[in-house]
Amino acid sequence: MGLVSIRELLAAAEKGAYAVGAFNCNNMEIVQAIIEAAEAEKAPVILQASQGAIRYAGINYIVAMAREAAAQASVPVALHLDHGTDFNQVMLCIRHGFSSVMIDGSRYSLEENIAVTKKVVEIARAVGVSVEGELGRIRGTEDEIKVSEREAFFTDPEEARRFVRETGVDALAPSIGTAHGRYRGRPELDFPRLQKIRELTGIPLVLHGSSGVPDEDIRQAIALGVRKVNIDTNIREAFVAAMRRELGDNPGEIDPRKILGPAREAAREVIREKIRLFGSAGKA
Ligand SMILES: [Zn+2]
Repeated sequence: MGLVSIRELLAAAEKGAYAVGAFNCNNMEIVQAIIEAAEAEKAPVILQASQGAIRYAGINYIVAMAREAAAQASVPVALHLDHGTDFNQVMLCIRHGFSSVMIDGSRYSLEENIAVTKKVVEIARAVGVSVEGELGRIRGTEDEIKVSEREAFFTDPEEARRFVRETGVDALAPSIGTAHGRYRGRPELDFPRLQKIRELTGIPLVLHGSSGVPDEDIRQAIALGVRKVNIDTNIREAFVAAMRRELGDNPGEIDPRKILGPAREAAREVIREKIRLFGSAGKA
């Protein structure tokens, strides 16, 4: 199978009232961990790459790995750009074969965010690529994009309605209290706001900064219309913890495969748990 758009994955998730996991990747082992997990759970899956991941691995490598993964997989696989902050970057990803993109215009005014997002939707739609937009700012650090606590603000539901109506995005990432990176203490999600945004927009919503959000809150968010859940930090933690363990246990080891193999397995297990939590296991 070739890469699919998130539009169709999220439409199926809508019908089935579950969420599709969107897992960040930046190297071969993590791509393989994501695909192995999705295969084991028979789940549709979204591979996503941030601008930082693209800089690290190179866009051609990212796309080639995702295409190969999709070709071999028996489950549907999408390749999504995470937090594209620049129009040209988004266009580059579409041209290189990403099946879906996020245009993050959240640092702009509402008018400017609508304008740039609308422009991306028009072009993406013409070539069958789906688009996620962001409104309100999600705090934390997402691969070099820093949003401080003070800068962060929650999404206004009425603005969300206008944003979705005027841009035509396929999915919306609202800011409702989650944060990128690791949490200090328990995150407090604004569920009434999430519900209102969902009622007024009627489109699939995306939960960013979901690593470290308690399972019951993830389930609640999915019950209220979240159809794509992003996970990055939990994968990094599992991957690097396994590497540390292997390096510590075997200080003389010089074969990278002996370090990265167990890291890949650890990442795969975390991803399998998330897929089951999101309700997408068995949906492929
Ligand atoms: Zn994010």
